[in-house]
Amino acid sequence: MSKKLLLKDAHIEGIRYFETYRKQGGYTAAEKALKMTPDEILEEVKASGLRGRGGAGFPTGMKWSFLAKPEGVPRHLVVNADESEPGTFKDRYLMEFLPHLLIEGMLISSFCLGSNVSYIYIRGEYSWIPDILEEAIEEAKAAGFLGKNILGTGFDLEIYVQRGGGAYICGEETALLESLEGKRGNPRLKPPFPAVKGLWERPTVVNNVESIAAIVPIIDITGAEYAKIGVGRSTGTKLISACGNINKPGVYEIDMTITVEEFIYSDEYCGGIKDGKRLKACIPGGSSVPIVPANLLLRTVNGEPRYMNYESLADGGFATGTMMGSGGFIVLDEDQCIVDHTMTLARFYHHESCGQCTPCREGTGWMHKILKKIEKGEGKMEDIDLLWDIQRKIEGNTICPLGDAAAWPVAAAIRHFRDEFEWHVKNPELSQTQNYGLAHY
Ligand code: SF4
Repeated sequence: MSKKLLLKDAHIEGIRYFETYRKQGGYTAAEKALKMTPDEILEEVKASGLRGRGGAGFPTGMKWSFLAKPEGVPRHLVVNADESEPGTFKDRYLMEFLPHLLIEGMLISSFCLGSNVSYIYIRGEYSWIPDILEEAIEEAKAAGFLGKNILGTGFDLEIYVQRGGGAYICGEETALLESLEGKRGNPRLKPPFPAVKGLWERPTVVNNVESIAAIVPIIDITGAEYAKIGVGRSTGTKLISACGNINKPGVYEIDMTITVEEFIYSDEYCGGIKDGKRLKACIPGGSSVPIVPANLLLRTVNGEPRYMNYESLADGGFATGTMMGSGGFIVLDEDQCIVDHTMTLARFYHHESCGQCTPCREGTGWMHKILKKIEKGEGKMEDIDLLWDIQRKIEGNTICPLGDAAAWPVAAAIRHFRDEFEWHVKNPELSQTQNYGLAHY
């Protein structure tokens, strides 16, 4: 059984409220942190090996150490709660059921970073959660954990919740900052990075909800102890939101030592494939990461078991492996059509492209059109090569990672399931009504 750090109290009735959270030991990590110096906290975060839980997996301690500290210029912490990656809903769970864990994490992080005004930018579709967060903020303030002179330390902190307008692109950190400033959420060219010029051109750290929540157990048990959980550079625990054709969709906390097979088939987690069907493929880190066929999902190319961690999932590189990404684990059974699935994703990325870069603006729409043609049985063989060519011209040629996110699913689908694309071309009359089927490979 995986060790629980973030969700250990999630089952307790009323844990959403300050009184219950406090009774369970809530805010003791904050009390401990406020007696430390910011540099000591930073060292703990570095020692923990925590990697950003939003998708990129960049070491959080290193990110914090890049924060510029010009004299007299305010700094900010912005929590990225714009959780819009298809298949990902673990931050929603944290905010809905454990809002004080996030607020406590923000208090510790803001103290470390020197932010007196911090923000939670939350996706518009999570319409009921800002009220939960705002209520928790008021409770924390009433208890002296937010506001002026927190616990007599002289440290002040205000936290504001900002609702997004429902654009996927606002999950990209610079687009998020633009939106938070009241502008259209267009990604910025980098450099300058937010750590130097972020919100209102002030040094800013943008971190995912889960990353900030993880600061609480790190301070609680120490960074060194946190780093002992997990394996290699995949330290601590990770929240996974599992969905698709499984028996038990939901949010699970894993310690990154379990195998993918165990995660899918064990009753503790996904409970196996629905209706006894066979596993066809999986997208383990949200829709942007490459899809992996069952054989490569359960074992690496070397025949080793594949583990639920950053290194093992990526083992073999993009040709065979995938990424931990945001932890949005989407499972596809034998009945799912990969072409249809890829087309749905292409439509999504085309719709969500902000339109600033030509390869993304034009390429995503073009890919969607071609995929639609193939799926309807109106495609030609050369369309598959054209699709491959378009995705290659998008990847790495855009301002923000949405271009890559749109290209990778198409690349992986063609790489691993080319025969399924060809079947659609060769069987126009069947491609609308029948599934290519697992038996073909
Ligand atoms: Fe906008 Fe796409 Fe360019 Fe990102 S890659 S800036 S979403 S056009």
